[in-house]
Amino acid sequence: MSPVVLDSSLNQGKPAPVEKRPTLEVIGLKKSFGTVEVLKNVSLQVAKSEMVFVLGRSGSGKSTMLRCCNRLEEPNSGDILLEGEKITGRGVNLDRLRRRIGMVFQSFNLYPHLDARGNVTLALRKVLKLSRDEARARADTALARVGLADKAENYPSQLSGGQQQRVAIARAIALEPAVMLFDEPTSALDPELVGDVLGVMRELKQDGMTMLVVSHEMAFAREAADRVVFMADGEIVEEGPPEDLFGNPQHERTRAFLARYS
Ligand code: ADP
Ligand code: MG
Repeated sequence: MSPVVLDSSLNQGKPAPVEKRPTLEVIGLKKSFGTVEVLKNVSLQVAKSEMVFVLGRSGSGKSTMLRCCNRLEEPNSGDILLEGEKITGRGVNLDRLRRRIGMVFQSFNLYPHLDARGNVTLALRKVLKLSRDEARARADTALARVGLADKAENYPSQLSGGQQQRVAIARAIALEPAVMLFDEPTSALDPELVGDVLGVMRELKQDGMTMLVVSHEMAFAREAADRVVFMADGEIVEEGPPEDLFGNPQHERTRAFLARYS
């Protein structure tokens, strides 16, 4: 891919040194839909094995920012680097990119006609071209990691929402991505099922997974996040460790958001 030449507001315009380079680097991202500027100038970094939480009201641009990271949306300007490689602009292999960035959405998007194992093996067979036996072994390992070893042969209709979301997480982690993006992974779940999905995310973090998470689960963010980013109107207003952002927010907008949502 292209060599890294960036005009960045971070690091005085220089990309981070190779050995300190974050797993995911978003630099000066801008995105408009028509005349509406949805991302104004978003820069953030996720270091290896870090869990970064993104908070913000509906419409603040969180999903658009995540979707730019795996090129479901094309930014108007700015750069995104994955393990130091530029993944924005021309000439990027999108299939390879989407193997390296796992994404989990609010809606689980499982194939109803495939059982849990089938949903996980599909990408392993098609994308990674693994043999049937290799794909099955890797799928069963991924299902075990999300606590569903005994549900491999259940179809989505035979699984709770929380279990379906865990299958979606297994499907993503089976590809061994460099980073996992989560877009409100528990928002569609009944309250009693939220904890299971958060538990899986906690375990992934303990295993060293790098994660960028959009979620309104404030208690979980406080407990599990390494860093919390607050977005409003397409901009990052404030970021810091959870104890600072929740305990001593510096900006009025952050305070107003937290007063309303936590
Ligand atoms: P969030 O995830 O924080 O709720 P989004 O990124 O989904 O915010 O949306 C930010 C803004 O961009 C909203 O005003 C939304 O209506 C608008 N938007 C998102 N996607 C599109 C699209 N494909 N076309 C037009 N407007 C969009
Ligand atoms: Mg959203």
